[in-house]
Amino acid sequence: MFAPPPTFPLRLLDSHWLTPGVRHFVFERSDGSPLVFLPGQFLRVQVAGTDTPVFRSYSIANPNDLGRSDAQRIELVISMVEGGLGSARMTALGHGEEIPVTAPNGRFCLLPDDAARRYLLLGTGTGVAPYRGMLPQLEAAAANGVSTVLLLGARTPEDQLFADEFRAAAARIPNFELRFCHSRRLPEDPGPQDVNAYVQDALAGFEIDPEGDLAYLCGNPNMVDAGFERLKAAGLHLKRIRREKYVTPSLPGAVTPAKPASL
Ligand SMILES: Cc1cc2nc3c(=O)[nH]c(=O)nc-3n(C[C@H](O)[C@H](O)[C@H](O)COP(=O)(O)OP(=O)(O)OC[C@H]3O[C@@H](n4cnc5c(N)ncnc54)[C@H](O)[C@@H]3O)c2cc1C
Repeated sequence: MFAPPPTFPLRLLDSHWLTPGVRHFVFERSDGSPLVFLPGQFLRVQVAGTDTPVFRSYSIANPNDLGRSDAQRIELVISMVEGGLGSARMTALGHGEEIPVTAPNGRFCLLPDDAARRYLLLGTGTGVAPYRGMLPQLEAAAANGVSTVLLLGARTPEDQLFADEFRAAAARIPNFELRFCHSRRLPEDPGPQDVNAYVQDALAGFEIDPEGDLAYLCGNPNMVDAGFERLKAAGLHLKRIRREKYVTPSLPGAVTPAKPASL
């Protein structure tokens, strides 16, 4: 018989709309223990009000201290999906209410043994959340000569999440190239970081180094698939491509999530 995974409670402290379709949630772990995780990992939230336990995965969006984080405060960014069970229940969550979540999971992380000369990071929509947490690691990597290309995709400039934080990081970190890929509309006064393209198409502006590049693809499953195919065609071995598709595993088009790497 299916045994639900162990959970611990998060209490909602604050939430607000970042854009008309994306809500930012700030929780605290309410059992008093710290939450130990690596930037890039996700939590599985147990959806309230269902007869049998139903879970939805959300990447931890905390802006972190270097590498590993022991946090009491947990941030998530959740895109509202029409008819979506999890997103509807999350929107209805009141401040002070608690939700059960599982331990952090996933391998969509920058790891100490990675032999990267350059990180190629592609994200769309809320799929930029893992990269927010990785910024301090990327800064440390830059000090060791590792460069970063960060391609962030959204429909319009207003839909780009945490744009000021990523812009500040690109200004501060050496050899850090940032592109905001606006698929529908450029800003009125576009800068050198703004392009009118899908993220996977913006990749064409960068020559792939099969020996030195390590690529990460996160968010919309179509983007992840298209980006993966392009990187493979450009000679990047699939061992050097990490993927996080934002889909509900039981629904059509979903893939089995990576084997959990709980900390
Ligand atoms: C490892 C991992 C991390 C994730 N991290 C995040 C995150 O940080 N933020 C976040 O918002 N989501 C994230 N997701 C996606 C999230 O877990 C849900 O799949 C998504 O929020 C939809 O769940 P739902 O219950 O609202 O909709 P569901 O009840 O699962 O689906 C309802 C209907 O909407 C369709 N649908 C589902 N997703 C979408 C979509 N994105 N666009 C359009 N239609 C859709 C379904 O096919 C279905 O017909 C992540 C997924 C994984 C696997």
